[in-house]
Amino acid sequence: MRASQMYLYTLREVPSEAEIASHILLLRTGAIRKLASGVYGFMPLGQRALRKVEDIVRQEMDATGALEIHMSALQPAELWQESGRWAAYGPEMWRVRDRNNREFCLGPTHEEVFTDIVRQNIDSYRQLPVNLYQIQTKYRDEARPRFGLIRSREFIMKDDYSFDRDEAGLDISYKKMYDAYSNVFTRCGLNFRPVEADSGAIGGTGSHEFCALCEVGEEEIVYCDECGMAATDERAAFADAAMPQEEEQLLETVLTPGTKSIEDVCAFLKMPQEKSIKALLFELYNDELTDVTGYVAAFIRGDRQLNMTKLVNALGCHSYAIAFANEAAMHEQTGAVGGFTGPVGLHDCKIVVDSELVNAKNMIAGACLEDHHMINVNYGRDFKADIIADIKLLQAGDPCPVCGKPVKSARGIEVGQVFKLHTKYSEPMHLYFKDENQEEHPVVMGCYGIGVTRTLAAIVEQHHDENGIIWPMSVTPYHVMLDLINPKDETQAAVAEDIYQKLLAQGIEVCLDDRDERPGVKFKDADLLGFPIRITVGKKAADGIVEYKLRRGGDNSDVSVEDAIRMAVELVNAEKRG
Ligand code: ATP
Ligand code: MG
Repeated sequence: MRASQMYLYTLREVPSEAEIASHILLLRTGAIRKLASGVYGFMPLGQRALRKVEDIVRQEMDATGALEIHMSALQPAELWQESGRWAAYGPEMWRVRDRNNREFCLGPTHEEVFTDIVRQNIDSYRQLPVNLYQIQTKYRDEARPRFGLIRSREFIMKDDYSFDRDEAGLDISYKKMYDAYSNVFTRCGLNFRPVEADSGAIGGTGSHEFCALCEVGEEEIVYCDECGMAATDERAAFADAAMPQEEEQLLETVLTPGTKSIEDVCAFLKMPQEKSIKALLFELYNDELTDVTGYVAAFIRGDRQLNMTKLVNALGCHSYAIAFANEAAMHEQTGAVGGFTGPVGLHDCKIVVDSELVNAKNMIAGACLEDHHMINVNYGRDFKADIIADIKLLQAGDPCPVCGKPVKSARGIEVGQVFKLHTKYSEPMHLYFKDENQEEHPVVMGCYGIGVTRTLAAIVEQHHDENGIIWPMSVTPYHVMLDLINPKDETQAAVAEDIYQKLLAQGIEVCLDDRDERPGVKFKDADLLGFPIRITVGKKAADGIVEYKLRRGGDNSDVSVEDAIRMAVELVNAEKRG
């Protein structure tokens, strides 16, 4: 491609809403264009890189034996009503009506659609296993679209669904996908880590997330170098600390003026924070989010953090239908007192107690009375739980739930996730098969997603410097930037044309910068656009010498035209598969 004829419009100014490198650079290079909040289009360079990511995904999926199909984004509500998710999915689902007032959604995911497809054809064990996938546009009306392609409202996902006769079959399908995902992200040049994950709204048990490691990632992962445990912080179990066994002392209410925080009350009473109980107060909503339907008080040890995902799972509620309580309204109904709430004396609200508190003796807790706390609070004797569960967050330095050594933490971008669905969809949607004895069983399913557009952003997030993108060879829009310094100089133009044609003939993707621009502009753009190899044709072209440079660093070298071509072809061929 010749830059003079390309639809190439880079931006000098950093768009103000873009906060992270990938968002800034994808906009600055003109790879993507924003249409509305969380809605982006792909310009020629972005589209080329996106297609390469898609091709890698497609090749690795095909290699597992999965078959590609393509379903509509528009999905009838009835399918979601069958699975029970029409109500459960909540406000992230983009709901629309047709002219006859029939309800549809723009699919946020496709479990129901794929289950429906397969149940129309499959009824015997002889037809299993089946594995179908698509690379298709998804819609989610995210509460906070941000970071460009990383959390957008329209995005491209590769979603795959496996159908097996039993758990053993599912294990095989799951492992194949897990391995294929590792191949995909390796080939895309990502530094990533598969971690155990919560299975969220899709449900089922058994899931891994693939996280591209980087500081701006929204996922917090905890891992143990000792035993290899790695999980999202939402998912990571917390092994309860052994609590000192003490005699239960007399429950007392004491004056603790103005001590609304754990730090303040523990300092005031000269007690360590692990002897205190922290209260977190929530209100629950109906599915339409119009009314508060009840209150929840969650209690954890004062020095711990609440894990919201574990709390939501323990309550069995939807994550969108719970929010911090309005303390005044909650006080009216339950007796909770902001900053001084404890489990003793609370009423008419669901009490969730972290498992660690069950054996904790003589604790400090709010007294549900302004400026007062209780001391010597004991589970069983003084208060009871509606639910006891591990609801605390595992953080760096806490003991590994598997081996007890201190864990480390890192941040990442979730680029893919694999789930074991078991029979979560096949049972309600009647996807059954007959075995050898004509007995009916529900098909055992798995689902597997890759955020294709998010992966593109994660690649840029991990591969850039202060001057621009540094594309990995496997996904770069073009392999070579061929800078022609002076297009009006006939020798230079002829040498550049010769290199251009020879590279193209060997299957190398070249962008010939033949624009009538100053060299400084061309070099800046070459760095910004970030194609891996730059060949510059300048004054020495008359002597058959050009400059060869890699975007990722290393020395510039003056080489002969032949050497430049040979080096470029060798490097591209060595690295283009990823
Ligand atoms: P998240 O927790 O980040 O919202 P998710 O767990 O809801 O993601 P899945 O339902 O597992 O996501 O979807 C599969 C993949 O689709 C994710 O791993 C991610 O890469 C991608 N994805 C999900 N939501 C978005 C989004 N809003 N924008 C871009 N990609 C997304
Ligand atoms: Mg999500």
